Formats: sequence, structure tokens, C-alpha cells
Amino acid sequence: PKTLTIGLIPGDGIGKEVIPAGKQILQALPSQYGLNFKFLDLRAGFEEFQKSGVALPDETVEILKKSCDGALFGAVSSPTYKVKGYSSPIVALRKKMGLYANVRPVKWVEGVGIPVDMVIVRENTEDLYIKEERIYEKNGQKIAEAIKRISENASRKIGKMAFEIALNRQHVRELGGSSLHKSPSVTVIHKSNVLSVSDGLFRETVKKVYESDPARYGSIEYKEQIVDSMVYKMFREPAQFDVVVAPNLYGDILSDGAAALVGSLGVVSSANVGDDFVIGEPTHGSAPDIQGKGIANPVATIRSTAMMLEFMGYQEPAAKIFSAVDENLKENKVTTPDLGGKSSTQEVVEDIIRRF
Ligand code: NAD
Ligand code: MN
Repeated sequence: PKTLTIGLIPGDGIGKEVIPAGKQILQALPSQYGLNFKFLDLRAGFEEFQKSGVALPDETVEILKKSCDGALFGAVSSPTYKVKGYSSPIVALRKKMGLYANVRPVKWVEGVGIPVDMVIVRENTEDLYIKEERIYEKNGQKIAEAIKRISENASRKIGKMAFEIALNRQHVRELGGSSLHKSPSVTVIHKSNVLSVSDGLFRETVKKVYESDPARYGSIEYKEQIVDSMVYKMFREPAQFDVVVAPNLYGDILSDGAAALVGSLGVVSSANVGDDFVIGEPTHGSAPDIQGKGIANPVATIRSTAMMLEFMGYQEPAAKIFSAVDENLKENKVTTPDLGGKSSTQEVVEDIIRRF
């Protein structure tokens, strides 16, 4: 069998309770997949900052780059007040590892809740999040400005990733995965009716990617949606969306909104993806209100673990994990309190593993 080295970055709060769940899932994968895992424990987070003065030690980045095939990140606490010298390690990590896409699937469990099976592919390096802000005074009044930067290069890369994900999802559907969709589609989010230059560049660049390779992308339906009407449609008829690709800010907002379609934050996974590395990450935070009680829902992390494998090219074990999670949710017996259940984190992990 092949040995994959996975970096584990639990971070703060329930990050420390859910990352061990991802680890156990990998360790329990049936031998038929021919994979063995080696784990490296890595430091980052607010507690780490309080101890050492550094939120993201250089050593963590070096080990990820030199020795790891992929990684899992738990959650970090970010105080709402400004702490001198502290900035979020996950933001820094995405930058240092070149993880330019944040991929967030939102999928219902058949028969439970609202039918939805979409994935939001969010550009993760630019837009308003470059943090080029300034404030000045004019006629005794403060005025603040922020730059929204959209580049052709980043738009092309995220567009390409979205079309590739659409093809991959279709491939997985054909392997027998359950889905609402018969054929793939990609919806491009923009507001170029107002921001014709910046959002215009995003939209046109993604469209060019689509048109540049009809042999590869011809089977995908290409759609566009203005961001505000997207919010409306996403809540009214979420079932129509397959892959959704968006610039950073719209993607951030849409993906948190989409999570509301499936109940608890504790089930929503994500992956931070670059050309040669992936970090799986549950979308929730460090949840100080439930930390230390052993009741954090591990499903978001377990699905993020499967996403990590998927982007590393291991579709089959990923599909096995996804379907074991779906079965657990569908049965709705062994679940944590956020889903109305009475089980512990560990009991849920064991119930999922039992289904492999
Ligand atoms: P949160 O996601 O930590 O919690 C929101 C609510 O959802 C809480 O009631 C929590 O108990 C519940 N919840 C979250 N994950 C759960 C799980 N796996 N199982 C069961 N219930 C779960 O968001 P918050 O309370 O706004 O933020 C808490 C801290 O986390 C803050 O310091 C914030 O900065 C940080 N945060 C970090 C990330 C990240 O690391 N990517 C994301 C969001 C918030
Ligand atoms: Mn967000």
C-alpha cells in the first residue's frame, strides 16, 4: 500500500475535538483502497499565539510544504477586539500554500430537509479581501475606501477549477453517487450590471475558459446569475444549482447562506485548494460554547477529510466516506445535540466507521 502523510492542525476550541475524528476515519479506511496514513501534528491558532507569540509558526508551513501530501485544519478563535500582532492563521496559510480556491459543497440527505446539491467555488486571493483600505477626511467628514481587485489570472484559475469540479462531480454521479442533477452546470456569479469593469472582467474571463475548450467542457451547461438574484433563487429553488463560481466576497456570503439550507454548521465541509496542495477544513469556528463537552459534531470534519482525499485524486475512498456519513444522517439515530440527538462526537465517529 501507499503511505500518505497528512498534516493535522487542530487549532483552538472544538478544532481539537473534531480533527481526531478525521484522523480516525482515515485510519479506519478499508485496506481495499491500498492507503496507509502517517500523521504529523502541527501548531497554529490563538492559543498558540498566546503561548509563543506566533499564530502560524514557520515550522508548520515548512512541514506542510516539505513532508505532507495533504492536511486537515480544525478551527481557530479570532477575538473580535484587535490583538496586537495577531492575524488569522488560516488566512495566512491559504496565502503561503497557494490555496486560491475555497470549495464548499452543500448537500441534502435524501428525504431530509430541502433538496439541494450544490458546490460553491470561491476565489480566495483577491477582490475586496486584499485589504487595501484607506480613510481620510473631507470637509470634516471621514471617508473610507477599499479597493476591489479582480485579475484575469485569478479569474481564469478559479473558472478552470469550477469546470473541472463540474466534470468530476458528473464522473462521481456516474459511479453511482446519488444526486439531484442529471448533467453538470456551472453558474457564474457577478454584479456586472453595476460593476461592469471588475465583475465584468471576472464574468468574461470565466466565460472564455468555458469557450476555450468545447471538447472538454461542452457537456457542461454554462449559466450566469447576478449575485442578489442568486440569493433569492438559492433560497427559493436551490435544487437547480450544481457548481457555482464566485469572486471572493460574493462567494463568502453565498457559502454561509447556503449552509443555512442544510441545518447545522456542524455538517458543512470545505476544502482549500491550490494547484498542488489541499487542506480540508470544517466551515464552523472553534465553538467556545460547547468546547470540552465532547459533543461537537464531527460530520463537517469527516466530510472535509473526504474532500481532501477527493482533491488528492482518491475518489473511491472519498465516496465511501461520503456515503457512510449520508447513511448516518439519514438514519438520524446517532447524532450530536446540534442535530437534535444525544450522542457524543466519538459515538458518531464510530457509527460512521461501522458503515465502511
Ligand atoms: P462557531 O462556528 O464557532 O459557532 C457558531 C454556533 O454553531 C455555536 O453555537 C456553536 O456551538 C455551533 N457549532 C459550530 N460548530 C459546531 C459543531 N461542529 N457541532 C455542533 N455545534 C457547532 O462561530 P462563532 O461562535 O461565531 O465563533 C467562535 C470562534 O470561532 C470565534 O473566535 C471566531 O472568530 C472563530 N471562527 C473561526 C472560523 C475558522 O476557523 N475558519 C470560522 C468561524 C468562526
Ligand atoms: Mn465566511
